[in-house]
Amino acid sequence: MLNWENIFATRSSRMRASEIRELLKLLDRPEIISFAGGIPDPALFPDDEFKAAYADIFTGPAVRSALQYSVSEGYKPLREWLVGQMAALGIPCTVDNVFIVSGSQQGLDYLGKLFLSPKDTALVTWPTYLGALQAFNAYEPTYDQLSPNGNRTPEAYRATAEEAGGKVKFAYLSVDFANPTGETVDREGREKVIELADELDIAIIEDAAYQSLRYNGEAIPPILALEIAHKGDIEATRTIYCGSFSKTLAPGLRVGFIVANAPIIRKLVLMKQAADLHSSTINQMAIHLVAERGFDAQVAKIKEVYSQRRDCMLAALARHMPKGVTWTKPEGGMFIWITLPEGMDGAKLLARSLETAKVAFVPGQAFFADGSGANTFRVSFSCANDEMIEEGIGRLGRLIADEIGG
Ligand code: PMP
Repeated sequence: MLNWENIFATRSSRMRASEIRELLKLLDRPEIISFAGGIPDPALFPDDEFKAAYADIFTGPAVRSALQYSVSEGYKPLREWLVGQMAALGIPCTVDNVFIVSGSQQGLDYLGKLFLSPKDTALVTWPTYLGALQAFNAYEPTYDQLSPNGNRTPEAYRATAEEAGGKVKFAYLSVDFANPTGETVDREGREKVIELADELDIAIIEDAAYQSLRYNGEAIPPILALEIAHKGDIEATRTIYCGSFSKTLAPGLRVGFIVANAPIIRKLVLMKQAADLHSSTINQMAIHLVAERGFDAQVAKIKEVYSQRRDCMLAALARHMPKGVTWTKPEGGMFIWITLPEGMDGAKLLARSLETAKVAFVPGQAFFADGSGANTFRVSFSCANDEMIEEGIGRLGRLIADEIGG
């Protein structure tokens, strides 16, 4: 039989299915209460609004262009709508700064491709979004730890990168309600990341996938907004803002966006021409119609539901988790991050939990570029109702208490 490994590119060696993903395949079983997914609740999709949007496209003059090839930059009315959204976030820009991608995940792949030669260093938080590691891994980087409020010097970063055989190229981070921790980087941390990036002369990739989903607390300006405030103009910035409609409207349409200075956008357009020419024309049109007709109302609707589920899960954790277990208190998003006492193992706990407690979650280690974090795990409240949360967290708390006690 042909040994494919002999002819695969070296970059493919870092693309491996994780054991955890194999375990999570068991989740379809009806007896399992799952907090493992990190996906929007399909009951909250604006399906009537999409039905009306597609009907309008198909019955109007736009149908021909909706089914046709279109420009790589993305559908202009959608980009114009995004210019207005960005202005409201403190990011003044023009359509030339806005680029549509097939989900922000595609943007992460393009950015990995654009910046990373093998052995270059990407700065990521410990833990970070697993999909970002997967996207970047294909470009064979090394990783170093980004701590927004930490004190490591630019020289130290530079020296570590040189030792690894390359240069530091970018800092990737999620500033609002991060996946997997649910945590938010405060204003000071955001400013420090800009300072560090200026000193290292690297890009900042700001992942804003959950930005719209704030349930309480005061909004903090995006890194890109802070940088524009300092430097006067988006063209003088180094931050690349990655946004998504997946958490607010519908992930299945695969529409995300990147906002950045024009030279970066022009480079990304070339990548898109090589990869898939453009994102789905008709889906961009539908997203535009639905967003223009009622984005704020849709966001208000889902925020109400998710914030209530978050409250319910935080209350259940406080009631059921034994001493020694700690967790984050997110101000938005979909996730809570749980830390077990040192020495416990989230992956082993999952295996046992699936057998006995019948509760699923995602062990934390896969989110760490350095393989640490064994005693952590992620739970999501986005798709769980109050009963599931109370029952599931209760069972999990008892299982953990047993493990600690035993
Ligand atoms: N960034 C983060 C932090 C995410 O959690 C996700 C989705 N899980 C994405 C990016 C990718 O989202 P999409 O491609 O659907 O825009």
